[in-house]
Amino acid sequence: METSDVPVGVADVSITDSKPNPPAPTNTASMLPPCRVCGEKASGFHYGANTCEACKGFFRRSLKKKGEYKCVNNKDCNIGPGKRNGCPKCRYKICLDIGMSKEGKYNDSI
Ligand SMILES: [Zn+2]
Ligand SMILES: [Zn+2]
Repeated sequence: METSDVPVGVADVSITDSKPNPPAPTNTASMLPPCRVCGEKASGFHYGANTCEACKGFFRRSLKKKGEYKCVNNKDCNIGPGKRNGCPKCRYKICLDIGMSKEGKYNDSI
């Protein structure tokens, strides 16, 4: 009876540091869609939505203020490129409308 009980030698896999290079972030910023709040160039995914740095910061401040802004118009101000600072109330409303929330900041490094 032949027991081929060969001790399984641990394969000599020497762990080297030759990890495959992660895909380099090559200019992804230029490929992003525009900020969903103000329409300017977005910098990435913040608070659950694709926004620019300005709107990210704005939303962060808004969370602290709990969005307590007043709209001087009828809450239908036009927030767009160059006009995003016009009305924080309406800008904040857009943030909420597009699904921004403090829970959505998983991808945001503070
Ligand atoms: Zn923006
Ligand atoms: Zn407004």
